[in-house]
Amino acid sequence: MPRYEYRCRTCGDTFELSRPMAESAAPAACPAGHDDTVKLLSTVAVGGSASAPAAPRAGGGGGGCCGGGCCG
Ligand SMILES: [Zn+2]
Repeated sequence: MPRYEYRCRTCGDTFELSRPMAESAAPAACPAGHDDTVKLLSTVAVGGSASAPAAPRAGGGGGGCCGGGCCG
């Protein structure tokens, strides 16, 4: 279950909740009971679209001198 981080605008506390994505936008009361909270950007990526890892450009044969050790 994804975890969402919220910040209470009443007491300034930040807290995390584990809740279904369908309820991510639902009001969340802070541990002190305030309900004036805002949802922060989640730092945990759950089920996102994983992009392919950026592969280093190798073997391009661009004609540079790198590779021969002359510019490293
Ligand atoms: Zn609070």
